[in-house]
Amino acid sequence: MKPGTVLGHVLWTIGPDPDRNPPVLYAKCKDCAEQSPATTDRAASDLWALEHAGRTGHRRYRECVSVDLYARPVNETGGTTP
Ligand SMILES: [Zn+2]
Repeated sequence: MKPGTVLGHVLWTIGPDPDRNPPVLYAKCKDCAEQSPATTDRAASDLWALEHAGRTGHRRYRECVSVDLYARPVNETGGTTP
């Protein structure tokens, strides 16, 4: 067998990492681009936006969320250890 030989076709899937950390999020003002500190506490992000709205009158925000993902062949089951 020579290097680079294709032995088979495998379908892969991707989804939440079973060993993931909690999602990290922040709120970003769409009127001035200021953003809250990154946090795992959604209430803290919402509070930042409400305080920003009260201080500036800005009303439009975007919630940005980061979630760890894990890719695996579709026929693989179990944990994340290969
Ligand atoms: Zn703003």
